Amino acid sequence: MATKENNELVIGIDLGTTYSCVAVWRHEHNRVDIIPNDQGNNTTPSCVAFTNYERLIGDAAADQAPINPENTIFDVKRLMGRKYTDSLVQEDKMMWPFKVVAGVDDKPMVVVKYKGEEKKFYAEEISSMILSKMQTIAEAYMGKPVKNAVVTVPAYFNDSQRKATIDAGVIIGLNIVRIINEPTAAAIAYALDKRNDCIGERNILVFDFGGGTFDVSLLTIEGKVFRVKGTAGNSHLGGEDINNRMMKYFVEELRTKNRVEISGNSRALRRLKSACERAKRHLSYAIKTDIEVDGLVRGFDWHASITRAKFEKINIDLFEECVKTVEECLRDAKMNKSRVHDVVLVGGSSRIPKVQQLLQDFFNGKNLCKSINADEAVAYGAAIQAAMLSEGISNVPPLVLKDVTPFSLGVSTKGDIMSVLIPRNNTIPVTKKRSYWTCTDGQLSIKIKVYEGERAKASGNNLLGSFSISIFPPALRGHPFDITFALNENGILSVSAEDKATGNEKKITITNDKGRLSSAEIDRMIQEARQYKSEDEKFIRKANALNDLDRRVYRIRSALNEEKINSKLSSKEKQDINLTICRATEMLDCLNQQDIGAIGECLKELKTILDRIMAL
Ligand code: ADP
Ligand code: MG
Repeated sequence: MATKENNELVIGIDLGTTYSCVAVWRHEHNRVDIIPNDQGNNTTPSCVAFTNYERLIGDAAADQAPINPENTIFDVKRLMGRKYTDSLVQEDKMMWPFKVVAGVDDKPMVVVKYKGEEKKFYAEEISSMILSKMQTIAEAYMGKPVKNAVVTVPAYFNDSQRKATIDAGVIIGLNIVRIINEPTAAAIAYALDKRNDCIGERNILVFDFGGGTFDVSLLTIEGKVFRVKGTAGNSHLGGEDINNRMMKYFVEELRTKNRVEISGNSRALRRLKSACERAKRHLSYAIKTDIEVDGLVRGFDWHASITRAKFEKINIDLFEECVKTVEECLRDAKMNKSRVHDVVLVGGSSRIPKVQQLLQDFFNGKNLCKSINADEAVAYGAAIQAAMLSEGISNVPPLVLKDVTPFSLGVSTKGDIMSVLIPRNNTIPVTKKRSYWTCTDGQLSIKIKVYEGERAKASGNNLLGSFSISIFPPALRGHPFDITFALNENGILSVSAEDKATGNEKKITITNDKGRLSSAEIDRMIQEARQYKSEDEKFIRKANALNDLDRRVYRIRSALNEEKINSKLSSKEKQDINLTICRATEMLDCLNQQDIGAIGECLKELKTILDRIMAL
């Protein structure tokens, strides 16, 4: 697992499904700074776009999405660590305007057109691009390189999803020193916010309703120790689903009321989606909102309106599901709701009034905590955890953090029975050892299959990996051996088995069977990430040079319009100047074809002309 590079700064990154946020602990100021991006926004869309000219990440990508839907990738976190044939991937694919295909080992890949060529990317690569954007935002703010980060993931992210997140960091050379659960990070932020009145044990319920995911976590804070008592969640419940509900509603309304069919028209759907998202946000404080999309389809300007009541009606089952999940979380942790001291709202969708009302009713009218900025709390907490992992930082709030595993982990035993070594909600890191016996006489090897999940039937759970150890000499049935599970702070599992009689041991870190990237693939991606970065830089250099060109042409033209300058130039000089200007204008007209060298030459000539003119 990653270790820190060069004792350097560690930042906190909330790598969200729809929005990401980066924060840093400023020890000189004794506080966390949420770092604004180049547009001045505290959160950055988790969105990457490819065009004929360039690659765009964040706001720039999201802004051009309606005109380039097929090549604008969002929601990629949903693909992380999953197979193409996963039913959730198949379901999502139907709603996405970009193309997803099966790659090697059934790993999903997005397909885009970049600079006129078809390109395929794994989810880890797209995530790495978003991480690199967050890294760049932090570097610009701190004025120095940033190489280490704590990155948050949803509480129910399994082994392969956590590893895929770490791989995304590797691709761009960002050292992910720790993965923590998003609700845990939010609880850290909350505890810091309230640190003065945190006396005795407090039970905190973190309700994180974001763009693509919904997580509930129950934590107890006692003194300086955070303990996650339990988690529950739904990987497919968030603001995006609410947007989709609104879209379905309006697609139907357009069909019946306006006799306009837009399903299958990806440009129209994308524009409808942006309009729905805006309307949804508006309905969090207004009781009715108007929607307008000019030219939704050719020659048709669309106007509609929706009330908050209607909005609630079409989404009520999603909202109620949130409360059911809260109930489930409490039941799992065997805690009565009356024992919850604070209910903390996190995630953009937690701003929806109906959601707040249902939650408040469930807790018998209890006031909900909204003091933390819902969009920033996770990154805030990650930055505090990051500071705790940084060397040489003395004044970090001394919090000790304990997380739990979201799934039971075990092995299959005779009759396909799941034998659990580490139960769900066990605190991590943890090591558990258990003895098993062989089932047949003369068995030469033991195959160990490792699963995660809650089903009693082992094969009904998720197979993480398998390996064998040999028994030599062969023994009678009932021969004992030990299996040890070690789960580290990041929730990543290694398993070892030992034949006690012979001392023969085998140890593996579970590299799951779900097609984690091979090291050769990662190496290739590292190379490509460097290449994309340098292409981006080249593009920016070229764009800047062309801007300079434009400015110089403009200045020369205005100077030539001044009689006192014009009259002092010979006609040969004027002819030469006009020729250079013509060349420059041609360059500005066909932006993509120019090479930077030619632009540089032209810039130099323009500078000479300007110097000459200024001297007149
Ligand atoms: P994630 O962490 O999943 O990326 P966030 O916590 O940043 O998500 O929340 C993003 C979601 O919150 C988006 O779906 C967005 O539409 C929704 N959202 C943001 N503000 C509001 C609001 N005022 N009312 C309703 N939904 C909102
Ligand atoms: Mg989030």
